[in-house]
This record gives sequence, C-alpha cells and structure tokens, in this order.
Amino acid sequence: VSFSELGLFQWGVDTCRELGMRRPTPVQRRCIPRILAGDDVLGIAQTGSGKTAAFALPILHRLAEDPYGVFALVLTPTRELACQLAEQFRALGSPLNVRCTLIVGGMDMIGQARALVQRPHIVVATPGRIKVLLEEDPDIPAAFSKTKFLVLDEADRVLDVGFEEELRVIFQCLPKNRQTLLFSATMTNELQALLEISANRSYFFEA
Ligand code: AMP
Repeated sequence: VSFSELGLFQWGVDTCRELGMRRPTPVQRRCIPRILAGDDVLGIAQTGSGKTAAFALPILHRLAEDPYGVFALVLTPTRELACQLAEQFRALGSPLNVRCTLIVGGMDMIGQARALVQRPHIVVATPGRIKVLLEEDPDIPAAFSKTKFLVLDEADRVLDVGFEEELRVIFQCLPKNRQTLLFSATMTNELQALLEISANRSYFFEA
C-alpha cells in the first residue's frame, strides 16, 4: 500500500517522499482513510509508530480542500511534545504554507493571544495555557467556532496529568460536529469515557 492509495492528494504523497517516508506505517494505513472519511479515531499506538503523520496528513488534506482557521486544535501533555508536533505539521504542510501556532506555558502570553486572534490553521497546545487564554481573552473562543478537528496526542498522559478541568473548558469552546482523534500508548477507562463524549462515528484500533 502506498500513500496515494490511502486517498491523499499528490502533494501530500510527494511531501512524504521528500521527508523520507516511502511507505505508510501500519498506524498510517489504518487511520488515514478513516480520518479522511470523517470518522472519530481512538488509536492505541506508541511513539515511533508514525502516529503524528497518521493524523497530520489527513488533517492537512482536509485543510487544503477548505482552508480556514482555526482548523485543528492539537493537545499534548508537554511543551517538548508540542514543539515536535508543530514541527511535523510545518514540514508535512509546507506546500500549503500552513500557519501553525504553538501555545505552551513559559512563553509570552500576549503574543500567543495575538497569534490566536489571527486564526492560524493549526494550533498545537498544552491544555493549561490554552485554557487560560480561552477564559481570559473574550476574542479567543470565537477563533475556534468552526474548528474541524480536535486531536488528543498522548491522551493517557494528558488525563494522567489531571487536565480534566482544562479539557472541559476547551471542549466547550469547540463545535459539536468536529472530528475527535485520540492517540494513546495505553487504553484506560477515562479514554473510553472521553471518546463517548463525541457523537460521531468512532473507529478504534490497536497497533
Ligand atoms: P511518531 O510516531 O509520530 O513520533 O513518528 C516517529 C518518526 O517516524 C518521525 O520522525 C517521523 O518522521 C517518522 N515517520 C513517520 N512516518 C513514517 C513513514 N511512513 N516512513 C518512515 N518514517 C516515518
């Protein structure tokens, strides 16, 4: 199976090749067609499995069809992971001139608020900082009023760290008809409960 057989645009296939990704990994083979089809996904997959591209490629594909911001909100437990995710989005989305903003603690909050109001295509965030911005700046929730994708990367760790309150605030700012994509190294009861919040069709897999 090749990347083009998974339904991606040619520019996506070419970008993968340029980045040294010749064949889709198992996670990518299973997730990309389902995400393109509009399903929610709960994927049990380890770091190193290619899970970032498994959600980034179909999100960028859909963004190219109908570009607006904020198109996708990607949540992850730590600043380091957020930086790596943003880098992958920028690399995979380079033919689209994707505007990707990082919203993490320990960095200039006024600059972050300004960046969000300008509605970048992709927001990669840690839950604590984005929650504060959503609550304190009345202009920011509107930026997420048409958001198509919510991604929870390392979802088991996000829940472990005790971000429930943050997630509640964040979920309230997102449209109900979005797609939700959860990726986790382990399956937990909290994850199952979280997935059930979403009303869409769901696809579960374990890599
Ligand atoms: P991840 O599991 O998302 O942390 O990805 C681990 C690493 O694998 C990243 O550095 C990717 O660039 C790389 N990678 C992702 N997909 C592929 C692929 N299909 N072929 C080769 N390398 C890949």
